[in-house]
Amino acid sequence: MLDLTHERERMVERQVARRGVKNSYVLEAMRAVPRERFVPEGLREFAYEDTPLPIEAGQTISQPYIVGLMIEAADVRPGDNVLEVGAGSGYAAAVMSRIADRVYAIERHDELSRLAGARMRRLGYDNVQIRTGDGTQGWPEAAPFDVILVAAGGPAIPQPVKEQLDIGGRLVMPVGTSQREQRLVKVTRHDATHFEEEDLGGVTFVPLIGEHGWSEEACRPAEPRSLKSPAPTRSTPELIRAAAEPLPELDEPAFGALSDRFGEARVVLLGEASHGTSEFYRARAAITRRLIERHGFTIVAVEADWPDAASLDRYVRDRRAPDHAEPAFRRFPTWMWRNTDVEAFIESLRAWNLNRRLEERTGFYGLDLYNLSASIRAVLDYLDKVDPEAARVARERYGCLTPWAKEPQAYGRMALTHGYAQCEAGVVKMLRELMENRLQYFGTDGDQFLDASANARLVKNAEAYYRVMYYGSAKSWNLRDTHMFETLCAILEAKGPNAKAVVWAHNSHIGDASKTEMGLVREELNLGQLCRERFGKGAALIGFGTHSGTVACADNWDEPMQVKRVTPSRPDSYERLAHDSHGNRFLLDLREGMHEELRRRLLEPRLERFIGVIYRPETERWSHYSACSLPQQFDAYVWFDETTAVTPLPTTVRQGAEETYPFGL
Ligand code: SAM
Repeated sequence: MLDLTHERERMVERQVARRGVKNSYVLEAMRAVPRERFVPEGLREFAYEDTPLPIEAGQTISQPYIVGLMIEAADVRPGDNVLEVGAGSGYAAAVMSRIADRVYAIERHDELSRLAGARMRRLGYDNVQIRTGDGTQGWPEAAPFDVILVAAGGPAIPQPVKEQLDIGGRLVMPVGTSQREQRLVKVTRHDATHFEEEDLGGVTFVPLIGEHGWSEEACRPAEPRSLKSPAPTRSTPELIRAAAEPLPELDEPAFGALSDRFGEARVVLLGEASHGTSEFYRARAAITRRLIERHGFTIVAVEADWPDAASLDRYVRDRRAPDHAEPAFRRFPTWMWRNTDVEAFIESLRAWNLNRRLEERTGFYGLDLYNLSASIRAVLDYLDKVDPEAARVARERYGCLTPWAKEPQAYGRMALTHGYAQCEAGVVKMLRELMENRLQYFGTDGDQFLDASANARLVKNAEAYYRVMYYGSAKSWNLRDTHMFETLCAILEAKGPNAKAVVWAHNSHIGDASKTEMGLVREELNLGQLCRERFGKGAALIGFGTHSGTVACADNWDEPMQVKRVTPSRPDSYERLAHDSHGNRFLLDLREGMHEELRRRLLEPRLERFIGVIYRPETERWSHYSACSLPQQFDAYVWFDETTAVTPLPTTVRQGAEETYPFGL
């Protein structure tokens, strides 16, 4: 059976306690109740995500934080007699049952109340009783209650329920005249007639349907508003339409001109909303060419492994390949770099470079850290040439990792079992000594030294990355993004004080994480954020998005590439706002001072879609959407309403290819 104790701990700490829930009864109870047992089987892996989830009968289990917040607000105490209206999955009732004496819960869907009852029995929570019925009538036989929690939004507090509150009792319920948005209200009963009300803030709950709530009729989707009734203000899609700068066709040279406003930046980071969309690659290629040709950028650094990108770099700068250079990008996900769009870009970069002196040519570099074995080999090859004694020491130190180099995850598992970082000291020393000898080595060839030191950095950081991979995602994510940032800085430094870089990485790496849920709740930092911190306005962060189309992706890691349809974006997402503006292809300038009204509207967090190499449309909301604040993440946003999958390169050797052609097999 899945052990999610660690995830549960983390959820309580980050999503609940850190947002201000302090009551130790609530935190302890949430630590004790296995939330994964209250969601449908297929969604268990998402049980500890910071979001509500769908349950049977088309209902939802509330976001963990909201459950914690409501129970704390209701001040549930040992000895209490509690009523919950809207038991849903039974999770909130289960949490309260770990604190109170008795919990009565009512659910209008029989299917749900049966499932919730069965869960309580299996968990041995025998102080909870659940029944099917209209909770707006309360549970008179078990009244009075010290606490009443209503977990669905109604137009007002149902009178019978209010009357079942004991003197001194607390009731918490979402109340609102709109069925979509409510205020969370706390009522304390001081005596027979005196009820004090407190507003706890805005929330969104499913409707409370019953005699003293909404009628079922009223909950049917409303008819579209009559065309005659005037809109109160301009809608957000209308504001987007007004602010959108339409973009020319991708093949037109003018496409890249959108980036002229960032020509003075030190680093321009270009995102993508998937790892397999042709338009994102082609747009980034056009923008990058413009930045190189008009604004003096000479570094292209991408979310790819250093040694693989290095073979493309040798081709674009027409440098000699080392004796045993291997073809690049042969490991999963191959289509991410072995595709026709990247090939066309690489050819254009080479054509540009061949007309320039070596030192003026633009290089192509990898920021990622997965190809441990190729990096080890590259460091050894380099030292063999420049310092054979250091090469001997390096062989010994890297020997510790060699058995794991092809499958480094196994090293992580081993380190976890044995509880120590066997290979850490050696790889750290290796990088340090290489850097200490930089003056001696650098004299031989600056590019080769940069290559060797980047590989040594990759080995050091990859050792740590695979070791912490098993401790949860934030730590390894942070290590990886910090590695990317360090590598980018090392390239900039090696190329001199005026060097400028274009970075290609996924939106999740380049959209500033510090002010979104990613940073605030999950403690994840990223490359975009680190660049902003280091370069201030000298870093331009450009995100990309799409509504629908096709995408190259896989079902699972290491599985074959497929072309899947991208589900049209969700109604509550940024993507849908952009889609509803009816623009096919445009840029939104999101910098402060631009389109203030729109910016203010977009600041409010919404869902944003992130498709990686894996795409699971079946569980799209939980696998691919996360709450963000678009204008805080990006300085600009490039939109393609409909997009197409990349075309992977053929797996046969190209006839008549250059000897140095990097996409060989
Ligand atoms: N607290 C629940 C949990 O932890 O899973 C989530 C509750 S869900 C947001 C709201 C529930 O209220 C739905 O399951 C819905 O069917 C139920 N509901 C709505 N009106 C009701 C009523 N009049 N009586 C009982 N249940 C009702």
